[in-house]
Amino acid sequence: MNTCIVAGGAGFIGSHLCRSLLEKGYRVICVDSFATGTEKNVHNLVDNSRFKIKKHDIREPLMINEPVQYVFHLASRASPVDYQKHALETLETNAFGTRLLLTFALEKNARFLFASTSEVYGDPEEHPQKESYWGNVNPIGIRSCYDEGKRFGESLVMTMHRETGLDVRIARIFNTYGPNMTAGDGRVIPNFITQALANKPLTIYGDGSQTRSLCYVGDLVVGLETLMFKDNISGEVVNLGNTSEITIKELAQIVKKIATSTAIFETKDLPEDDPTRRCPDITKAKQLLNWEPRVSLEEGLEKTVSYFRSLKEGS
Ligand code: NAD
Ligand code: UDP
Repeated sequence: MNTCIVAGGAGFIGSHLCRSLLEKGYRVICVDSFATGTEKNVHNLVDNSRFKIKKHDIREPLMINEPVQYVFHLASRASPVDYQKHALETLETNAFGTRLLLTFALEKNARFLFASTSEVYGDPEEHPQKESYWGNVNPIGIRSCYDEGKRFGESLVMTMHRETGLDVRIARIFNTYGPNMTAGDGRVIPNFITQALANKPLTIYGDGSQTRSLCYVGDLVVGLETLMFKDNISGEVVNLGNTSEITIKELAQIVKKIATSTAIFETKDLPEDDPTRRCPDITKAKQLLNWEPRVSLEEGLEKTVSYFRSLKEGS
């Protein structure tokens, strides 16, 4: 029975990945500092004898006294509000943390997947974004702790691959949403849904004409697993995301409708360096992995609104 490490496994995406890997019969060790993740996200997994939680900050060397075949590295703060508040920690996690996890994978002779981001493309001048695009990132701006952290992480992963032959894959994840997101983390989906459910104004930053392309977490997890478990694709970098692009203003309207809310819209300042357009070109994921998202925005938002509604009712 193969063992997977999921670093960042108590977070939003990581918790769905842990559950799915257990369903497929893997042993799973969730390694997490609980910086943003919570035990609550994985509480339904703890009774499974193939699941373990190890509280650990990946900026320190990881010790696991058993064979490991796969390392999924998802450990990093991911919300712009949050990573800007913890900028040095975010840089260190993606730099030192990634380096140490790569060393761990090498010692274990394990395959390594790095959760990178569409933020490596910055405020893109090429649209939609292909893996071959090098990006337009402000290296000293307020988002650079994350963007450059991930770019450095990618460089580490590829350098390790070239120098040691370590089997690696990089997923460039585009905006993903779903249950287990944290209500107060500042990202657009939790913000809009919690505001809509409370009938409080939905806060649209800038004029709301900036776009994002939103992928449901269930689809993303299938993409991550396919990328990890496919043989003979070491060193590949693949965009994973949904290609239906919408403006933030349209998103606010859809959330309001799905949450049957009476909330109004309120305009706030656009944060510095907020990317204007973002949409993945997923030709490579389709060809290499036979992967594409299946869940529509409406369907995914219904599930996510239900999740946030259940949190509200439970509180
Ligand atoms: P999240 O904040 O819910 O999960 C991140 C997890 O990593 C948390 O459980 C947190 O406690 C843990 N963590 C952070 N720093 C750590 C450290 N130093 N040591 C150990 N654990 C640490 O965020 P998420 O949305 O689930 O994102 C997961 C990964 O996917 C991140 O690497 C993120 O950069 C990447 N990603 C996410 C999105 C998205 O839209 N959700 C988009 C692009 C990339
Ligand atoms: N945004 C918004 N209102 C909010 C939160 C975010 O209009 O309450 C906008 C934000 O300015 C950005 C987009 O929604 O243009 C997505 O923001 P998020 O923080 O979710 O992720 P990003 O893609 O910027 O990393």
